[in-house]
Amino acid sequence: MAVPLLACDRGGTIADRAKPVHAPRVARQGDLVELIRLEPGIQLDIRYASTNNFTGQKLYDEPRAFLVRSAAEALVRAHRAAQRDGFGLTIFDAYRPWRVTKKLWDATPPGPKRNYVANPEKGSKHNRGCAVDLSLHRIDTGMLVEMPSGYDEFSERAHRDFMATSPEAAANRSRLERYMEAEGFRGISNEWWHFDYAGWENFPILDVAFSEIR
Ligand SMILES: [Zn+2]
Repeated sequence: MAVPLLACDRGGTIADRAKPVHAPRVARQGDLVELIRLEPGIQLDIRYASTNNFTGQKLYDEPRAFLVRSAAEALVRAHRAAQRDGFGLTIFDAYRPWRVTKKLWDATPPGPKRNYVANPEKGSKHNRGCAVDLSLHRIDTGMLVEMPSGYDEFSERAHRDFMATSPEAAANRSRLERYMEAEGFRGISNEWWHFDYAGWENFPILDVAFSEIR
């Protein structure tokens, strides 16, 4: 079915009009799948649905996680591979409506920290339902494993090649990378928790609220 495209025309603030952000074309429909419907063992810790995130603001109304169908199915396979070793996936963020990418950008002061947030003029792979932020938990305790930094810690400790960390944290980072890369995801250099799904460019930028996804 053809996906209707229309420009995002949500109202901006006066400050937005003073320094315009040109919205990309966004779609209002996509083939998004809720991850826990495919695999209930995937844990959710959706930070943007709480105030426990770098903005201190609740940006999502509901703590839910969606990806496009092929990425969601690949993620389930990664989770099952982790389970065989006594681990599971914990999701911090997956599909993100475009309007939230804009809010994150506006909440980040101009400067080096903006290297860690997507420019809304280009949109994010999260907006396409093709990127996921995640970590590992231990199945026996349900607790997150040690990683070199916290989620959304905008420092060099978040970099994939940061080696001045404990052997356990480095091993857990590599373990997560192995599960994800085996299923067609690719990590990025400056955030150990972020993975893009191969073929993301074939999916449109979406601005659909979680509550509107059927
Ligand atoms: Zn991300």
